[in-house]
Amino acid sequence: MSEAALADLATPALLLDRARLEKNTRAMAARATGAGVRLRPHLKTAKSAEVARLATAGHFGGITVSTLAEAEYFWGHGISDITYAVCIVPDKLERAAALVRRGARLTLLTDSAEVAGRLDARAAELGVRFSVLIEIDSGEHRTGVGWDGPAVIAIARALDSARALDLQGVLTHAGHSYACTSVAEIKRVAEDERLAVVSAASHLRDAGFVCATVSAGSTPTAVHAESFAGLTEIRPGVYMFFDLAQLGRGSCELGDIALTVLATVISHHPPSSRAGRSRLVIDAGGLALSKDTSAGDHLPGAGYGWIVDPCTAERIGDLRVALVDQEHGYVDGTAIPRGRLPVGAKVRVVPNHACMTAAQYPRYAVVDGDRVIARWERANGW
Ligand code: PLP
Repeated sequence: MSEAALADLATPALLLDRARLEKNTRAMAARATGAGVRLRPHLKTAKSAEVARLATAGHFGGITVSTLAEAEYFWGHGISDITYAVCIVPDKLERAAALVRRGARLTLLTDSAEVAGRLDARAAELGVRFSVLIEIDSGEHRTGVGWDGPAVIAIARALDSARALDLQGVLTHAGHSYACTSVAEIKRVAEDERLAVVSAASHLRDAGFVCATVSAGSTPTAVHAESFAGLTEIRPGVYMFFDLAQLGRGSCELGDIALTVLATVISHHPPSSRAGRSRLVIDAGGLALSKDTSAGDHLPGAGYGWIVDPCTAERIGDLRVALVDQEHGYVDGTAIPRGRLPVGAKVRVVPNHACMTAAQYPRYAVVDGDRVIARWERANGW
């Protein structure tokens, strides 16, 4: 694609800052290498082959995904070692089997001996063998089983005796690191995450099972962990882009955030009771930014995103999107620089939660300063 000026983009548009993305991916790759652990980046946020290539550089090339659509897309873009890190059910095995038949090294996840039995029956019917990880709950309480309970041994036994499944190891995700209120607390959760999965592996090995993979990871814990000892791989994902939620948790600086939404000022609305002190209205509302306000838990005033300069990405005063309708974003701040931001002016919004915001867009406009240097497609949907 020939280069274009940022100002020529139709808005709202999803911007990806190439230099920041490269810095973030290089830093995590170096951190994993330094700790002697493999990096299996989670592509659930980026959903892009070009980003995957940067995120896996210098590592073994394996990735993590959260949908079968991502698995199919990345396989189609030359990535073969893929962990689908959401508990699988038998109905989804046919699609997974198609990938394995084409040569993918696809690893699946379960947290139930009973489901493992049904997966085995379906896999045998399909005539395909699958590698399976046992999900360990290290404190998030989403899915997974305790590392030391009877369930983990029961699942291992079911996988070990299966006709068409192989026990590959254990996996955990410390999603509860997002509830931490300090870096010290994230470090403690990172250690809990590591110990849960390393202990599960020892427990299984002591019981005579093979446990080749010991996998952990979230962005806050991968950034702040003091030890990765005993892990074979880590799986952070959002670190490639970062966002206000990560900024509020001390995992990045504002200048590290690679993902923004380009928007246009569409009205200078007078103050109203509905929009508080809002003066500016932009064409990026709830669909363009998402209605995820969780960054505000740790970053009071995050609203639906911070307003930054379209070219320099420097914050403009304390401007933020205070309220959204479907296609309207209401910008609030102590002082609104009306002269600098007339109707028609462009701004960028730094999103609260990169995964949710990016999911609204079919592609990125990849930017270098105020120039659009590439368009990268995303694998949305399921
Ligand atoms: N692994 C699993 C199983 C996940 O669900 C996620 C994110 O939801 C990650 C890794 C990546 O963590 P983060 O989004 O904090 O980068």
